Amino acid sequence: MTDGPHSLNRRELLKSGVRGAGLLGFGSAAGFLAGREAKAATRWQINPNQCIQCGRCATECVLEVSAVKCVHSYGMCGYCKLCTGYFEPEPINLDEGAENQLCPTGAIGRKFIEDPYYEYSINKDLCVACGKCVKGCNMFGNGSLYLQVSHDRCLNCNICAIATACPAQAFRQIPATKPYLLRGKGAAGT
Ligand code: SF4
Ligand code: SF4
Ligand code: SF4
Repeated sequence: MTDGPHSLNRRELLKSGVRGAGLLGFGSAAGFLAGREAKAATRWQINPNQCIQCGRCATECVLEVSAVKCVHSYGMCGYCKLCTGYFEPEPINLDEGAENQLCPTGAIGRKFIEDPYYEYSINKDLCVACGKCVKGCNMFGNGSLYLQVSHDRCLNCNICAIATACPAQAFRQIPATKPYLLRGKGAAGT
């Protein structure tokens, strides 16, 4: 079969289509790379001053166990014997019995320092980000317990599912070079 004008047109059309697809592909690849670079340059994080401890950090993360964890600013803590972030509102005893603890997973450790001071620490592996301790600490304490996205677990999703669900707009994207919004000095557990 000879190439008629229609074949030529078809061939040109095909060529330009391939070129277009190539350009489109290049455009998408460039867009994808730019998106990836932008994503790599930022991290999702919680502004602890905006968080209202609604509980969604525990339930909305795409991970089975949330990437959000409680952190503790030792510099702000009062080392209280009766810690309202540690104890149930009406504990039977002021001791480490599970029935007296607010944390549903036993993620908060309590250590006697000297009368009447105790040190509290978070076991990140057990924390499920329910925010109960944070609420308790904020209500009667110094606010030294608060929630942060833990970057050794977070997938840095393009759109963070918790950020979308957060009723307080407490999530934001911040520079990856400084990926935590820490309170006070001596914050630990990130
Ligand atoms: S979803 Fe927002 S308000 Fe609720 S606990 Fe998480 S950061 Fe706080
Ligand atoms: S946020 Fe919830 S699970 Fe985590 S330490 Fe506090 S009370 Fe325990
Ligand atoms: S970015 Fe993804 S993995 Fe990280 S906290 Fe949000 S939903 Fe969870």
